[in-house]
Amino acid sequence: MFATLASGIGRFGRVLMSDKLTMDWLREAVQVGEIDTVIAAQIDMQGRLMGKRFQAEFFIDSAFKETHSCNYLQATDMEMNTVEGYEATSWARGYGDYVMKPDLDTLRRIPWAEGTALVLCDVLDHHTHEDVPHSPRAVLKRQLARLEERGLRAMMATELEFFLYRESFEEAHDGGYRNLTPISPYNEDYHIFQTAKEENVMRAIRKGLQGAGVPVENTKGEADSGQEEVNVRYTDALTMADNHSIVKNAVKEIAWANGRAVTFLAKPSTTKAGSSSHIHQSLWTTGGEPLFFDAAAEHGMSSKMKSFLAGQLAHAPATTLFLAPYINSYKRFARGTFAPTKIVWSMDNRTAGYRVCGADSKAVRVECRIGGSDLNPYLAMAALLAAGIDGIDRELQLADEFRGDAYQGKGNEIPATLRAAIDEAEASAMLRDALGDAVLGHYLHAARFEQSEYDRVVTDWEIARGFERA
Ligand code: ADP
Repeated sequence: MFATLASGIGRFGRVLMSDKLTMDWLREAVQVGEIDTVIAAQIDMQGRLMGKRFQAEFFIDSAFKETHSCNYLQATDMEMNTVEGYEATSWARGYGDYVMKPDLDTLRRIPWAEGTALVLCDVLDHHTHEDVPHSPRAVLKRQLARLEERGLRAMMATELEFFLYRESFEEAHDGGYRNLTPISPYNEDYHIFQTAKEENVMRAIRKGLQGAGVPVENTKGEADSGQEEVNVRYTDALTMADNHSIVKNAVKEIAWANGRAVTFLAKPSTTKAGSSSHIHQSLWTTGGEPLFFDAAAEHGMSSKMKSFLAGQLAHAPATTLFLAPYINSYKRFARGTFAPTKIVWSMDNRTAGYRVCGADSKAVRVECRIGGSDLNPYLAMAALLAAGIDGIDRELQLADEFRGDAYQGKGNEIPATLRAAIDEAEASAMLRDALGDAVLGHYLHAARFEQSEYDRVVTDWEIARGFERA
């Protein structure tokens, strides 16, 4: 019913894998010299893996119980600046430690890094050992617990797109990330010949992820030169968010090892398509029965599915911040690029913000197309689930399906700027209730800092436009 290797359901609706690597496996692997390094990583606000590489002997001896990190890791911007003004941590509070508690359910081998295993960690308060509420895994777990109270479980899949370049990360950096050459010179959407040229990287990604316990469905070329997509199999939301983070890190590491650069920026170029992270979603009972399918209903969409989708549409202006967290994210919402601009739903229609896939089958599901490849999957899923839960709780009615070209049609616009998205999120009582005041405040602060940095910095565009002509 779930992923092929499912052997049961754990806490937070986790699908347990029968080939999951245990501490016993790790001890043995260390003893025979197969594993010498264990990466223990938490997820930061940007969705990145942050942590330490342990000598494996030390990890199995003690660090598997817990380790520590500076608590600024849950309060920095993209460039790891210590941003002032957070309630949770600051210079005044001395930037102390958080506990990193390895979630041993996430232990896995990392085949592309020799002798290396990886475990993801929950972030806990140093004194109380409670989840730090604004840490991304905790934010998602809170919504999963709310679903569980309602007898529900979320199954999710994120589809990650990115651009692959001929240059290495080092060359890209040294050149100021300018004038990069996409790995392929023309649109490679579904293109088998074109993508044959990048197989050394993409095959290594597929094989590496599969070996790391992330079940891959496929990779494919996407709708611009050098644009790629990785599709992994849907699973419970927490595992999917973990998998998303691991996929992103794997793509970067494997590209780097092959002398190539990649970017997950949502809109790396003015003239090219942006990169998305569509999120496929369905709800199931805690017993594993799909709840979105009703054979007797139009398109096979159950009333629960309709309310869930209605909630996501109603709250889409507020949740956009968690699907498009940066200044750059908003430049992706451009007409005629397969990125949406309208908050409408439609059957199998790639111009709509919400697309229903798998109509009239047990696979009927909601694909949210608003998110960019730069989103933090834990926060994005949490915000979408919070909106869907509100739709279910209030039995919201689903508006009529949109038909045709949504770029041209009527419908509410997705917030066009980070500033607008911040205002929408700030005004949302639903988000405040569902995430908690402090958690929403934490991410609003991050977004406001992002905006104020952008407002402060003089950009290349201004100089080129006005230097002589102003
Ligand atoms: P698309 O038409 O977008 O290419 P695909 O058939 O490739 O759709 O599926 C996209 C993603 O949806 C895959 O990652 C798949 O695992 C996931 N998916 C399939 N069924 C479900 C479901 N019931 N709930 C959530 N995700 C699902």
